[in-house]
Order: sequence, then structure tokens, then C-alpha cells
Amino acid sequence: MDFALTEEQRMVQHGVRDVARRFGLEYWREQDARRCFPEEFWKALAEGGWLGLVIPPEYGGSGLGTLELALAIEELAASGAGASAGFIFILNSVFGAVTIARHGSEEQKRRYLPGLAGGTLEFCMALTEPGAGTNTPRITTTARRDGDSYVVNGRKIFISGADRAGGMLLIARTSSVSTSGKATDGMSLFLLDPRSPGLEIRPIDKLGVHTSSTNFGYFDNVRIPLAGLVGEEGRGWRLLLDTLNPERIATTAACVGTGELVLRLAVDYARQRAVFGAPIGTHQGLAFPLARHKAHLELARLMNHKAAWAFDRGLPCGAEANMAKYVAADAAFQAADQAMQVHGGYGYTTEYHVERYWRDLRVFRIAPVTQEMTLNYVAEHVLGLPKSYGA
Ligand SMILES: Cc1cc2nc3c(=O)[nH]c(=O)nc-3n(C[C@H](O)[C@H](O)[C@H](O)COP(=O)(O)OP(=O)(O)OC[C@H]3O[C@@H](n4cnc5c(N)ncnc54)[C@H](O)[C@@H]3O)c2cc1C
Repeated sequence: MDFALTEEQRMVQHGVRDVARRFGLEYWREQDARRCFPEEFWKALAEGGWLGLVIPPEYGGSGLGTLELALAIEELAASGAGASAGFIFILNSVFGAVTIARHGSEEQKRRYLPGLAGGTLEFCMALTEPGAGTNTPRITTTARRDGDSYVVNGRKIFISGADRAGGMLLIARTSSVSTSGKATDGMSLFLLDPRSPGLEIRPIDKLGVHTSSTNFGYFDNVRIPLAGLVGEEGRGWRLLLDTLNPERIATTAACVGTGELVLRLAVDYARQRAVFGAPIGTHQGLAFPLARHKAHLELARLMNHKAAWAFDRGLPCGAEANMAKYVAADAAFQAADQAMQVHGGYGYTTEYHVERYWRDLRVFRIAPVTQEMTLNYVAEHVLGLPKSYGA
């Protein structure tokens, strides 16, 4: 077993680190306060060729895998980008690039991948629905075939980045659960322009990750040409797993990187802040939680690299991806919470940065998959326990 990174993987780490150095904590504080997309950061990533990591060379990318993607996200998150790095790569490299590179038609690859690699196209995914929530097979947005197009009707919620995106991955029902037999049958994947007539995007205000918008999507007779279907009609669930597993891998990388960042802020502060005549870091009450979160983050990183390694070889990776995400999301948020504790009252102010990462990291215990659902996955698919909930 060889845990050493390849020369190419180290080059990815060094390369993105060079980009990240130009965007310090102050830059990220400002983007958060102004609630805006980090245009300059995005442009620097595009110019460095980092947005095309997982895109095959014939479409303008580097042809690397999700392991290299995870390494890049970890580095960028740890440098100050935090959860923003995760969102940028999840939306564009996973929802867009991985899905299309794996399952798109030649026409779809030629249409979308070069723009995703060059940073001229942004992507989003509309999966979650108000009525179905975590129970994805219960989505009710329909895509009905009508002549040379599909007609989509329904409502989606929590679509990250939909206000800016030029491409959307949509999951809709092409047949109902009752006619499909299995609940996971009858769902199909589509690619469309979020600015299509009949699709209304409305913003949702939220606690953190202000660099990425969150939106409702109202579909009222939205037409998608037949060429927008990804793979086979009604077989979307199988294909979607090749999007959701790398989404977990990218999320874990963002948690690990941001967790490392808040630990560094906490340690720096705990070494220099002295009350009662000694640095506060000498107190085990502060030091032990930091050490514990560090241990958990390292474990999550290892498991995540294993998940990415497996995904890149076409091997099953659901167990590893879910377990890594579970551990990473808790460890990173708890590390941020402890970093705030270490900073005392200063940690609650915006000047010391940790409150921002605390707000941002909280989302990863909920999205893209809740902690409870990762445990359900492990209980059912790893331990072989009976499913505790209905269809
Ligand atoms: C900032 C943000 C960005 C997002 N971006 C996107 C995006 O780009 N695209 C997209 O499609 N979605 C996106 N989401 C949606 C996200 O994936 C969902 O919010 C998440 O999957 C949970 O679904 P829900 O909010 O409907 O929770 P619900 O399904 O209503 O669950 C509520 C609670 O009940 C628990 N629960 C439910 N069922 C069970 C059970 N069987 N066992 C134990 N506990 C259970 C859940 O774990 C959760 O704690 C985003 C969400 C947020 C907050």
C-alpha cells in the first residue's frame, strides 16, 4: 500500500496553493460581507486551468480524477476560501463536469465541457424539492415527452448558484412511482439553460456561504429539447449516484481543508493569548478538543482519499464517501466551534474570521446529505441492518 502522492498530485497542491495565496482572509471576509460571488478568485482559477481538473484533455481539461479534485479543494479551503472552495467545485466540476464526462452524449460534452474548463460557463443542480426533501425518489417534478422536446413542470428548492449558471442538471420524473415499480426507477437527468422560458429562479436568504446563492426554481411548461436528456430515460437514479458520490467527496475535502484552517487560527491564537500568566493553549480544556478534531479530520481525509481512489477506478465508493462525509462534517464544524471558544469574545466578532467559518461549516451537516442520512446509509448498506424508514 502506497500512501505517497504522485508528482502530478503534488503539482496540483502547489499550483492551487499559489493561486490561493493571492486571496487572503480579508478577501474572503469582504466577499462574505458583500454577499457576492468571488469573481477574482474564479478568474484566477480559470486562468490557472484549475477549473478543468476532471475534464478530459480533448475538451480542454487536465484529465485528472476526483482524488486530484479533492486535493485541490482541501488546499484552497485551507488557504481561506473555506466552504466557498467546496461550492465552486461541487457546482461546476461535479454537477457539471463529472456528470457530463461520465454520462453525457458526445454533443453534450462538446457543448458544455470546454466552457466549464475555461470558466466561461457556470453550473448548478436542481434535485431537492420542498415536498420530497431527503426522500429523493419522491420528487414530483415531471418531464413529459411532447414532440421533439420534454415539457417540465414542478418546483425545486435550494438550487445553489442558479442565478448565475448557464447550465443546469435537472432531475425529474419521466414516469410516476406507481408505474415504475421500483421507487428509484422512472427518474431522468436533463441538461438545460436555467434562463429557459418558463423557469423562474428566486433567491433564498440564509445563514452563511454568502459567496454562493441559494434559490427556488419554478418550472412552468419549460421545454427541453430531446438532446438534453442525459443517458437513458427513466434510468437517471443509477447515473445520479456518479454525481452524488463525488459530491460527498468534494464536500469532505472542503470540510477537511476548512477544519485545518480553523484549527490553525485557534492554535495561533492559543499560543499568543495569555491570561492568568500563561498562554491559554497550555490548558488541556482548550487543547484536547483541538487535538481530537485534528485526529478526526485526518481520519476523514484518509477515508475520503480512499473513496476518491475507488470512484476514479469505477469501484463502489458509497460506504467510504458517506463515512468520510459524516466524520468530516462533524469534525470541521466542531473544530470551528472550538476555535470560537478559544478566541473567547473575540471569536464572536467578525474581525477574527472564525465566526464566518463557523456559519459556513454548519451547512455541511445538512447538505448535500444530512448526517442522519449518511448514518442510515451505513446502517443499511454497510452493517446490513433493516431499513428503518418507509418509501
Ligand atoms: C446552502 C444549501 C445549498 C444546497 N444546495 C443544493 C443544490 O445545489 N441542489 C440541490 O438539489 N439541493 C441543494 N441543497 C439541499 C440539500 O441537499 C437538502 O437540504 C438536504 O438534502 C436535506 O433535505 P431537506 O432540507 O428537505 O431536509 P428533510 O428531508 O426535510 O429532513 C429534515 C431532517 O429530518 C431528518 N430525516 C429525514 N428523514 C430521516 C430518516 N429516515 N432518518 C433519520 N433522519 C431523517 C434529516 O436528516 C434532517 O435532519 C442545499 C441545501 C442548502 C442548505
